[in-house]
Amino acid sequence: MAITPLMPVYPRCGVRPVRGEGCYLIGERGERYLDFAAGIAVNALGHSNAHLIGAIQKQAATLMHVSNLYGSPQGEHFAQRLVDATFADTVFFTNSGAEAVECAIKTARRYHYAQGRPERHTLITFANAFHGRTLGTISATNQPKMRDGFEPLLPGFQVVPFNDLAAAEAAIDEETAGFLVEPVQGEGGMTPSTPEFLKGLRALADRHGLLLVLDEVQCGYGRTGAFFAHEHYGITPDIMAVAKGIGGGFPLGACLATEKAAQGMVIGTHGSTYGGNPLAMAAGEAVLDVILEPGFLQNVTRTGERLRQALEQMIPNHEAIFEDVRGLGLMQGIKLKVDNRAFVAHLRNNHGLLTVAAGDNVVRVLPPLIIDESHIAECVEKLSAGARDFTVPEPA
Ligand SMILES: *Cc1c(COP(=O)(O)O)cnc(C)c1O
Repeated sequence: MAITPLMPVYPRCGVRPVRGEGCYLIGERGERYLDFAAGIAVNALGHSNAHLIGAIQKQAATLMHVSNLYGSPQGEHFAQRLVDATFADTVFFTNSGAEAVECAIKTARRYHYAQGRPERHTLITFANAFHGRTLGTISATNQPKMRDGFEPLLPGFQVVPFNDLAAAEAAIDEETAGFLVEPVQGEGGMTPSTPEFLKGLRALADRHGLLLVLDEVQCGYGRTGAFFAHEHYGITPDIMAVAKGIGGGFPLGACLATEKAAQGMVIGTHGSTYGGNPLAMAAGEAVLDVILEPGFLQNVTRTGERLRQALEQMIPNHEAIFEDVRGLGLMQGIKLKVDNRAFVAHLRNNHGLLTVAAGDNVVRVLPPLIIDESHIAECVEKLSAGARDFTVPEPA
């Protein structure tokens, strides 16, 4: 057999982490990495956070899983806290981001069905979006590498250019259910929505009786310095998908909605065996405890600004390598003039710095939300050193 026991869908690199300590990962041979990838925006509290570990250990020893056929004091408590802290009136818990987006799509379609307008089943989505890897969520993007060979995909999505309000407006017809959009595109290249665009989508949704569905799986949960990225734009969605940072490393996602938008999601319309089980709720509550501590998000804003300044100062010193910086808070992307994947590998192999490649030849800088000045300095040192000794790889 030539195939590996792990289905070979990932280009796995030589880093083989066995332990994590705060902002560092330790590999099999004891080597240390500064982790500015954070599990792709997942390890919001870094690695080995004592409060998160304690909560999971305690709950694991008390009650790990029961069916959603039973009452959930744990789920009710966590959902209430999310409702209190956001635009939402109700929450469905999932195990991943793609499932949270699936729930958001279903909630949007079902709203119009409940309104007696079942023909409004199409979500307008945006070029280079990433919403996950299920059949539904790959149908919502136009990225060929995610779609090729998986046809037939689901109907009910229409892709238009990102940050192009006129294109979004022109796409509205009698079948439109609403818009599905990342306030800051992550995978696609760390591009924030312009204020005119996101506010404009909100206004279009209101004017046409459509729903604004936000995918804050990557940009939400404190990543940009606000609890959710849409707060920077002064708007609220009708439905929102959340995951990644919400569990701090425990598999957890959520679909949040207003009472109005969730009116179709009645008994029997949706479900999940694991979704919202007591163990996941304990992990989620522990992460939320930290994120909502007074000063935590202000600190993310402050370190985000420092990181941004440090990156901007570094760029002119290495003009052959770096083009520009984009992003919000601790969700920053550096656009490169050399191949981003080769540079990410170079940083990892030769400088002990973990980052993630994204679309548009961008390197994603996604540290844990708990970094301080010393980690920023170390990151910029490694980036600069990496830029100095990077040699363009020979074509294979
Ligand atoms: C990661 C991501 C998803 C998918 O989350 P999974 O947990 O991998 O299913 C969806 N949307 C966005 C914006 C993401 O960054």
